[in-house]
Amino acid sequence: MTHSFLPVAQPDLGGQELAYVTQAIQEGWISSTGRFLTRFETEFAQFCGTRHALACANGTVAIHLLLLGMGLGPGDEVIVPSFTYVASANAVTYTGARPVLVDSEPVTWTVDPRHVEAAITPRTKAIMAVHLYGHPAPMAALLDIGRRHGIPVIEDAAEAHGAKVEGRTVGGLGFAATFSFYGNKILTTGEGGMVTTDDDALAARLRQLRGQGMDPERRYWFPLVGYNYRMTNLAAALGCAQLERAEELIAHRLRIARGYRERLAPHQERLGLQLASEASWARSVHWLSCILVPAAQRDLLMTFLAERQIETRPFFPPMHRLPMYADPSFRQGRPLPVAEALGDTGINLPTYTALSDADLDRICGAILAGLER
Ligand SMILES: *Cc1c(COP(=O)(O)O)cnc(C)c1O
Repeated sequence: MTHSFLPVAQPDLGGQELAYVTQAIQEGWISSTGRFLTRFETEFAQFCGTRHALACANGTVAIHLLLLGMGLGPGDEVIVPSFTYVASANAVTYTGARPVLVDSEPVTWTVDPRHVEAAITPRTKAIMAVHLYGHPAPMAALLDIGRRHGIPVIEDAAEAHGAKVEGRTVGGLGFAATFSFYGNKILTTGEGGMVTTDDDALAARLRQLRGQGMDPERRYWFPLVGYNYRMTNLAAALGCAQLERAEELIAHRLRIARGYRERLAPHQERLGLQLASEASWARSVHWLSCILVPAAQRDLLMTFLAERQIETRPFFPPMHRLPMYADPSFRQGRPLPVAEALGDTGINLPTYTALSDADLDRICGAILAGLER
């Protein structure tokens, strides 16, 4: 019996996406000004409960822009979980500052506040909380550490649009936050990013840096080295259409996470399988549904699934295993066992709107068969 191919991710563009992009083209506003950009920034700020939202070309430059706006540079350090996507650490490196890599919590898979506090030095200029796989980082503990040490906490919320901590939406929890709208994220603009903040002075600096550094009062006067990190009105048209359906798109992620849980949870102990959990204070938006399996079986299971036309991805390798961050000084000489275990055992499963109950049956049946072999 032949089966259709099930990818890991697939965008859901079934709302006003085509209509809005068509309007942007018909109106001739295809570059980095236009009504969809203004609307997307206004509505995304409302979505996060912040005063400001600045649209950017992608999520990586959103982080870079934020760190530049905070004045980060050579000699400075930013505490980052080693278990994250490479962009979180690279954006720190772009500024000349150094990422200090710390270990994660085994339950939420996000940065462990105890390790954050231990890693603080006189050079620490920011703590980066990364809300991984849709689960928020433990913001209450991180903000408490930040307050006590006078260090701002920033959020990399690329994977967690609409996630909540004690009822408050990510993006508005720390000093500032960044988002990605890459094609596989919860909301997408193709390529795109956003910085959110309540800080008026920071927002003004970010706006200037994003637009080549131009003086807001004097056209073509560039008093500093800026960047072109702008989003297009075409991308923002997609963003407006996605944001209209944010709760619907999140509901599909939750449905899929529930579907995997119902089918796999009864077999967890027997097969050494672990599903994502949700802390009592958190609403996870389950960006990708994931499982952890014994390290020795992980790659075999992925091959077994690929042979059955089911695409999966391994978890990110922790940053301290990549060549540019391998020097022990990046982790202050400490071992990072939780990040390593996650990198060795995690699998991302297909997670997208069009996934049906029958597809979930097929995927979970194959997972169980693969692990039982
Ligand atoms: C996707 C992602 C980014 C980068 O976003 P791009 O839009 O791909 O540049 C940054 N951090 C995390 C955690 C991500 O998942």
